[in-house]
Amino acid sequence: MTAAIEIQGLHKSFGDLEVLRGVDFTVAQGEVVCVIGPSGSGKSTLLRCANLLEEPTSGRVVVAGADLTDPDLDIDRVRRRIGMVFQQFNLFPHLNVLENLTIAQRRVLGRDRAEAERTARANLERVGLADKEAGYPAQLSGGQQQRVAIARALSMGPELMLFDEPTSALDPELVGDVLGVMRSLADEGMTMLVVTHEMGFAREVADRVVFMDDGVVVEEGSPDEVLGNPRHERTRSFLARVV
Ligand code: ADP
Ligand code: MG
Repeated sequence: MTAAIEIQGLHKSFGDLEVLRGVDFTVAQGEVVCVIGPSGSGKSTLLRCANLLEEPTSGRVVVAGADLTDPDLDIDRVRRRIGMVFQQFNLFPHLNVLENLTIAQRRVLGRDRAEAERTARANLERVGLADKEAGYPAQLSGGQQQRVAIARALSMGPELMLFDEPTSALDPELVGDVLGVMRSLADEGMTMLVVTHEMGFAREVADRVVFMDDGVVVEEGSPDEVLGNPRHERTRSFLARVV
């Protein structure tokens, strides 16, 4: 089994603050891993180290076969193989939906307009927004904007997708559609690392759940193990607060 993400002994400090204190874990190709844990435990920092939005202080991070800590690495070549979806959708407000999906394909991948639009439309279809291509972000609900952001990431043809609390900024009634899109991606075999507070999603969709607290992985295992029968007191008290 090939690893899509392999993290060993990852440490990350901001000044005196040590945010990641020796994190090890792997995500296999085709695996869906959900990371849960309290606010401030280092989940976003971990995800950001997985595509070098943050530089690790020490440790090894291998993603899509590339060692991100290799100083000779062309990070832009690796990054375009990693899709990332944030809590904030970060769509370009002055571009319509189709243009939001084609701009990076054309600028970064050098695709011509026709191919970029074909790929964009296929991915809008995939997230259920084929009829919105001419709309502008401000005309869409938060849930629709997040689905556009997912379609934009997919349009780059990523080998794996990183999600950082993709539904946390949404009104509750809009969360389901976004989780539905993520679930169908998982069903298609996409490799996914998902930071989430949606325990129902983690339980039903994740192959593995990782509980982080205070910069370390406290425990990991199947959703049944970690969510249903946690071994550690810290996991139990976290779950008691969120569920
Ligand atoms: P989580 O996503 O689990 O809530 P984060 O990874 O965002 O946690 O943050 C972990 C800790 O690192 C927090 O204490 C946060 O304030 C701190 N932190 C995150 N990014 C930075 C940064 N760029 N500079 C300084 N401190 C940061
Ligand atoms: Mg976070």
